[in-house]
Amino acid sequence: MKKLTAYLGAVAAAVTLMAPATPVMAQQKFMTIGTGGVTGVYYAAGGAVCRLVNKDRSKHGYRCTVESTGGSVANINTINGGDLDFGVAQSDAQFNATKGLKAFDGKAVPDLRSVLSLHPEPLTLVARKEANIKGLADLKGKRVAIGNPGSGTRSSVDELMGATGMKASDFAAVSELKPDEHGAALCDNKIDAFFYVVGHPSANIQDPLTTCGAQLVNITGAAVDKLVAANSYYSDARIPAKTYPSQAAELDTYGVLATIVTSAKKSDDEVYLFTKAVFDNIEDFKKLHPAFAGLQPEKMIKAGLSAPLHPGAVKYYKEKGWMK
Ligand code: GLU
Repeated sequence: MKKLTAYLGAVAAAVTLMAPATPVMAQQKFMTIGTGGVTGVYYAAGGAVCRLVNKDRSKHGYRCTVESTGGSVANINTINGGDLDFGVAQSDAQFNATKGLKAFDGKAVPDLRSVLSLHPEPLTLVARKEANIKGLADLKGKRVAIGNPGSGTRSSVDELMGATGMKASDFAAVSELKPDEHGAALCDNKIDAFFYVVGHPSANIQDPLTTCGAQLVNITGAAVDKLVAANSYYSDARIPAKTYPSQAAELDTYGVLATIVTSAKKSDDEVYLFTKAVFDNIEDFKKLHPAFAGLQPEKMIKAGLSAPLHPGAVKYYKEKGWMK
């Protein structure tokens, strides 16, 4: 046995010695997009972009990968720290990061650059049928999930609470569950309601609606109207009836846009090829998730973009004649 092992070892060594040198290949470069929970729309958006970028990998040498993260605020901070190349972020988070407000109070991100905007993300409130929640006022005394730290949902809900005078102490319990967990927690009667700022349809909204008859709740009222009027990154939003099979009526709320951001430190070439991959294939991109169906390039290059556009994106927009 000993002999055989020694023999095999010698063969392995010989094979290693004889192995041809690896041919010189175009250096593999990596491009990572920060998204959100795997059951959200950001993760699907990142996957769609990467699929289009990777189609031309042999030409540009970039391998695009998607990372599941805590959401918008985490993505912006991680891009700023240099550990993500691109990220999906709510337009309100982009605005606040640029100006050093709210979740970015005293921590402005001057290197943040915008690339494009994507789908609308209405602020969505989902409640247990039995909880009898018909509007924001009914959340009093209930167990409410307000979004995980680092999510855009959390920063938007914090702003909503500030605007409406709702306080965490008004709730029976405050939960910071991640979006991948909130649907099951609702159906397991661990929470009464959750907030989620997301494009529709979204898998983790669909699940509790079908599994346990959870319901969507309108987010309206004078304080909400004032909040929307005072902030350019907010607008009224509707979720049309039957977006989800069990949803009988149109839902009235407000929301933001999903956007893609990067850092001023990223090269023009990298951002250009990212932008080109999306817009050269926009019809394919729109088919990759139902939330993208209404995307229009003329809006995607400016709506919701408060950070300066990255010059790599501008180069593509000028080439297309979309920008002077
Ligand atoms: N807008 C959410 C956030 O930033 C993420 C939504 C999604 O993953 O689709 O927290």
